[in-house]
Amino acid sequence: MAFETREEVLEKVIGMKKPACPHCNKQMSIWEVPPINVGDGLGWGTPFLFMCFNDDCPLYTKGWDEVMENYAHHASYRCINYPGTDQFELIPVFSPVGGTGQIIDDKILAEEEMLKENIKKGFSILADCYVNQDGVTILRLLMDPAEPVRVRLKAAEMIGDIGELEAIEPIRNLSFGNQSLQKSVDNSVKKIHERFFTRECPYCAEIIKKRAKICKHCSKDVAGQ
Ligand SMILES: [Zn+2]
Ligand SMILES: [Zn+2]
Repeated sequence: MAFETREEVLEKVIGMKKPACPHCNKQMSIWEVPPINVGDGLGWGTPFLFMCFNDDCPLYTKGWDEVMENYAHHASYRCINYPGTDQFELIPVFSPVGGTGQIIDDKILAEEEMLKENIKKGFSILADCYVNQDGVTILRLLMDPAEPVRVRLKAAEMIGDIGELEAIEPIRNLSFGNQSLQKSVDNSVKKIHERFFTRECPYCAEIIKKRAKICKHCSKDVAGQ
């Protein structure tokens, strides 16, 4: 499975349609899971879940009595959903104050707003760069890990369209740690070579003419390779 950062998962989860709780039909909210699963200590396998925070949800309202009767604990359940799946599960909650989760959701919403803002800003900078053929700034955004992945993906795509040969060197040696970003960068390197009728020497990796027979850097025979 591809490694994804917390931010990438959040971007994806934000982009998803929030599911309806199967118990009350109300829209569920994004919930950031605590770092350690109190239940079994194994973690959730995902940094974000959808959770029903509706305090009138029958699952939640009936849960208090049910848990008290069966386990003599003061607890209830809330319904959770694994993003992108039809998998709905119950998790125990121990506080009658439904607000705890809401606070988490507000934090996520603030983060979501900031992320959206950063994406908007990044895209607008990129649009200007594209018009002005400013490959240097595009390259800077592409290589900045603080930029949202969606902005970096767009930058990777653009650099293939307008990047100079000089753009190849800094990006081809960088490991992007994100499969789609890496793929887009590789693709753009290919596109730049095509535009400039160049390629990489199979021996020394320097940039040479596509039709070169002898590498001008390492003098090896590269005809037909
Ligand atoms: Zn519900
Ligand atoms: Zn060479």
